[in-house]
Amino acid sequence: MKAQPKASHYINGRHVEDEQGPALPVTYPATGETIAMLHAATSNTVELAVEAARAAQPAWARLKPVERGRILRRAADLLRERNAELARLETLDTGKAIQETLVADAASAADALEYFGGAVAAFGGDYTDLGGPFAYTRREPLGVCVGIGAWNYPIQVAGWKSAPALAMGNAMVFKPSENTPLSALALAEIYTEAGLPDGIFNVVQGFGDVGAALASHEAVAKVSMTGSVPTGRKVLSLAGSLMKHATMELGGKSPLIVFDDADLENAVGGAMLGNFYSTGQVCSNGTRVFVQKGLHDRFVERLVERTKTIRIGDPLDPETQMGPLVSKAQHDKVLGYIAIGRDEGATLRHGGGVPSLQGFEGGCFVEPTIFTDVTDSMRIAREEIFGPVMTVLSFDDEDEVVTRANDTEFGLAAGVFTRDLPRAHRVVAELQAGTCWINAYNLTPVEVPFGGYKQSGIGRENALEALRHYSQVKSVYVETGDVASPY
Ligand code: NAD
Repeated sequence: MKAQPKASHYINGRHVEDEQGPALPVTYPATGETIAMLHAATSNTVELAVEAARAAQPAWARLKPVERGRILRRAADLLRERNAELARLETLDTGKAIQETLVADAASAADALEYFGGAVAAFGGDYTDLGGPFAYTRREPLGVCVGIGAWNYPIQVAGWKSAPALAMGNAMVFKPSENTPLSALALAEIYTEAGLPDGIFNVVQGFGDVGAALASHEAVAKVSMTGSVPTGRKVLSLAGSLMKHATMELGGKSPLIVFDDADLENAVGGAMLGNFYSTGQVCSNGTRVFVQKGLHDRFVERLVERTKTIRIGDPLDPETQMGPLVSKAQHDKVLGYIAIGRDEGATLRHGGGVPSLQGFEGGCFVEPTIFTDVTDSMRIAREEIFGPVMTVLSFDDEDEVVTRANDTEFGLAAGVFTRDLPRAHRVVAELQAGTCWINAYNLTPVEVPFGGYKQSGIGRENALEALRHYSQVKSVYVETGDVASPY
């Protein structure tokens, strides 16, 4: 299996190789085989990319928003036309099941390009009547923006960052995760084909040092990063020391609260989606499932029954529902947490092991795992595992569960399952999380802002919020009379 791109980087509308850079091998997580060999960028390549973006951005910003939007919408159409091949590429790069990458990856990036391509033409400043004089505001682009991606949704992250940035008249240098470098290159080719001027979207590969070089580059006006909290802290301080704008989309340990009166099948389905989709590698996952005591035992019984039917295996088989984790390192980390959960005294109700799959012996597979009898202080209930490991906790009443749900440094997302809608709204209003779902979980349409409270991040992606975060406001005061000068 090979997925070798034409070159490692994409700068100024062209493929660029930089053989001086450290080797960056790409592995298929289902088998461990090397599918591509790339190079990380050297500082020369970083300079080339930033310079290309800097040079191209002013002319791009002078186009009418509707003209920029037209190019983005053309690129959205190309993403959708090539969805099948992009899904295959994403599956090879991440190991995620093809039945997921066909619907959740390039398709989600296309949604962002389409949405921002349309919305930007209606996004503008304000007018203020000052009783004769007046003022208006202009929403202006920031300049060169840097995007730094995580490995769980590579092309989606590239689309969610580049679409609002470009629509608003910025240029972008995007660095994918070193684990999943391939699909951002495909997106860059598609942008060029759709008519994007050279230099407006550039891709450079690399490890954390390349991300840091970009985040601290003096020609860069904004950094938008998706990744873990510890990395976010480093990137934010680099950006902050140079007064750059920043958006941080970071990790979580989100609560999913199931009250006694919830629809059992929907609540179980929501909890499974919010823990096992993408092999559990979703930032907003509801990994602390609080179930009220009256429903707890029936919930766990049905959860285990349904989890037993999950089909793990060949990610390219359309029947497969769960692929491997992204890398050996992530595999070790998740298995380590499962061992910690056992040691801490939680009950392992399902999974916990490595499935034996013929032909995939070198893969990073782990069974969907359910722990019950979990208490709030256990590490498996406090730390982000980023794998298919669900912890189930029980509770008595509403006030108690709200307090326990909020007792975390994270605040990315939360969910509530109940038939009592006044209670659902009351609870959601108390939850410290940037995105909350009522009787649903993990749906993130582009029309709705997405981002974290507390340590889970700052800024928002998606919706008009994202255009605000990729622009700055200029206030213009206009005098219509004489200048009232005392001198
Ligand atoms: P990570 O923090 O290890 O890496 C993220 C990116 O930052 C990578 O591209 C990496 O190369 C880069 N990086 C690392 N060190 C850097 C440095 N010092 N300076 C600049 N860049 C640096 O995260 P990951 O393991 O790739 O992704 C998993 C994490 O991402 C999880 O915590 C998950 O919750 C989070 N995530 C958040 C969202 C969200 O929208 N909130 C979405 C997906 C994933």
